[in-house]
Amino acid sequence: MHRKNLRGALVNGKVKRGNIVKKVMTLVLSFLLIGVLTTTVIAVPPGHNPNRHGRGGWPVGSSVIPITLTASSQSATEQAAWRNSMVAAVNDANNILVSAGSQGIRLDVRAGAANIARAERFPNAPWYGAVRRGPSMYGNASSSEILLNMNEIIRMATNVDSFIRSVLTYEIGHNFWLGDNKATASPSIMNVSRNRNVMRTFQPFDFESITLIYGWRQRSLLEYEEVLVYEYEY
Ligand SMILES: [Zn+2]
Repeated sequence: MHRKNLRGALVNGKVKRGNIVKKVMTLVLSFLLIGVLTTTVIAVPPGHNPNRHGRGGWPVGSSVIPITLTASSQSATEQAAWRNSMVAAVNDANNILVSAGSQGIRLDVRAGAANIARAERFPNAPWYGAVRRGPSMYGNASSSEILLNMNEIIRMATNVDSFIRSVLTYEIGHNFWLGDNKATASPSIMNVSRNRNVMRTFQPFDFESITLIYGWRQRSLLEYEEVLVYEYEY
């Protein structure tokens, strides 16, 4: 608001001498603020773009995150195949979490968990996957529901197994506080333009972000909070 007033005053050429000190002080404060924001940007991996999705997820400090995986199909063979792909996605994620230096954080597949991923047919729905979290999409999640749309995945996939794993890992990434990466040059499971027939799990860029958010390698809580407040505008 102050900057807008200043610009307006300069354009009109009607700045009163008594106000100039105040205006300059406002300008200096604006630069200081920009400095603070720039510091915030440095805490985010280059090219990473946390968006509104990136404002909620499994809490830092969780060590084991229970998750239930289900697939609904009339065909027992198809049901088993989908569930196998979903389990494989979770196993890949766990292997990466461990190799990235996680202090024990991992997903644990079990029945009756508060976190659910289920594959189902959603006819005429143009999406591959979806996620919602409880009690809110924002902040720490105590429960979550991931949906995989069997119709759309089967319709678009040339490698169904890889496609399932890619979509599930992407939604799990959202629950790890990752936002969509629409513009990064780095390979990322969170890039909606990725080839889902090939890229099936977290990429180095992704677990760099997860590492940052979850405070491994002695990252400070301050940096973690900075990730949460940072947001691009287009
Ligand atoms: Zn998304």
